[in-house]
Amino acid sequence: MQTPRDTPSAESTTTQSFPALFDVAVIGGGPSGAIAAEWLARRGASVLLVDPGDRIKPCGGAIPCRALEDFAIAPEMLVARAHGARVIAPSGKAVEMRIGTAGYVGMVDRATFDPYLRRRAEAAGATPFTGRLEAIEERPGEPLALTLSPSRAAAPGTEPVTLRARLVIGADGANSTVRRLMFSPADKPRYVFAYHEIVEAPDAPDPADFRADRCDVIYDGRISPDFYGWVFPHGKQVSVGCGSGVKGHDLRRATADLRAAAGLDGTRTLRREGAPLPLKPMRRWDNGRNVLLTGDAAGTVAPSSGEGIYYALQCGLLAAEAVETCLRTDKPQALKAARKRFMKAHGRVFLILGILQAVWYRSDRMREKFVTMCADPDVQRLTWESYLEKRIVRRDPLAHLRVFLRDLKQLVTPAARQK
Ligand SMILES: Cc1cc2nc3c(=O)[nH]c(=O)nc-3n(C[C@H](O)[C@H](O)[C@H](O)COP(=O)(O)OP(=O)(O)OC[C@H]3O[C@@H](n4cnc5c(N)ncnc54)[C@H](O)[C@@H]3O)c2cc1C
Repeated sequence: MQTPRDTPSAESTTTQSFPALFDVAVIGGGPSGAIAAEWLARRGASVLLVDPGDRIKPCGGAIPCRALEDFAIAPEMLVARAHGARVIAPSGKAVEMRIGTAGYVGMVDRATFDPYLRRRAEAAGATPFTGRLEAIEERPGEPLALTLSPSRAAAPGTEPVTLRARLVIGADGANSTVRRLMFSPADKPRYVFAYHEIVEAPDAPDPADFRADRCDVIYDGRISPDFYGWVFPHGKQVSVGCGSGVKGHDLRRATADLRAAAGLDGTRTLRREGAPLPLKPMRRWDNGRNVLLTGDAAGTVAPSSGEGIYYALQCGLLAAEAVETCLRTDKPQALKAARKRFMKAHGRVFLILGILQAVWYRSDRMREKFVTMCADPDVQRLTWESYLEKRIVRRDPLAHLRVFLRDLKQLVTPAARQK
């Protein structure tokens, strides 16, 4: 593999010169792309990392504490730590789910988190390009030719450039350009759309409405007919929002209602933004030759929770490892390992979460039962352990059995009899 330092400079913008050929071009410097670029650069690959760097990713920013350990994330990146969640049913009934000693939910601010990850990739040796991928040209036996347009703010008036790479990692998010250019439209993952508002945190909130160390999760058909709403603390800010795949559902109206319920209707709004959440991993992440998708571009957001950051990071590492093998062996089949290993590690959890969403999020009657079930200590413990440890915890099979039986009871008992 070549390193950026020992390759001749072939093409340049007015301000930056680049090697003639990169081993890998990573398109998108969110969590997935940045971690993949960092890992590959550390292994000695010549890596181009392309990101426009001009948009804050709309995101609630919640990550399990183990992400800090698994990806060596600096603790200063956390703007808040939540030690529990409160789930709220359509009737207004609320259930507190404390994490206890098992860990915490860390909150990152994507305005600083993503640039931090990109700086890490750059420090490891990846070459940054501040701009967007526009086109990919593929000719038999030749490296991929990428047309990149520099971001206007970073390089005003600069023309698009063409750079070459043996392989491309598409880490450019839910609306991936790489996927659009190199995969069939039929491969596009299924989405819900998520919208949130970043608002100033209140100085002295009523804890009945909002707490700076608790994530509120609202299951209510008026807020979302098929997903949920949230109020997540972010230190000096709060993320309030909801998601839905139902056309015509008014996410802004629902968010206004959430803000009012949390006593946040009077606080200043800093940002209003939304983006798709792809809730199903694609069946193929590679094109069989030279392109591999990762993170949201490959559809790796968990159903039912909408959690995507941890999985994007994990996926980025697996993509990097698969690409390194492909570079070393010159065998494109090696790219398949990324999806295979991801699905082996998380496929079952995604399946269970998908079923959970399909069953419990389909009506207010079911949502009411679901929140009731969350009061169960076994459900709480297994939920937190699975979230924090990122696998189905098998330590206590009897707890699984008890939860399964109570699940069944909730499903078959009329709501009126459960009060
Ligand atoms: C409203 C909302 C709330 C969410 N809340 C949470 C949460 O609390 N916890 C959680 O775990 N997940 C949450 N998610 C999901 C999470 O944000 C994503 O799963 C995660 O960001 C995926 O990371 P990624 O690196 O794959 O993609 P992204 O973070 O989307 O990064 C893609 C990068 O590619 C860049 N890019 C795009 N197009 C191009 C191009 N043509 N050329 C070059 N670069 C390009 C973008 O600028 C971006 O930097 C939320 C999502 C939404 C929409």
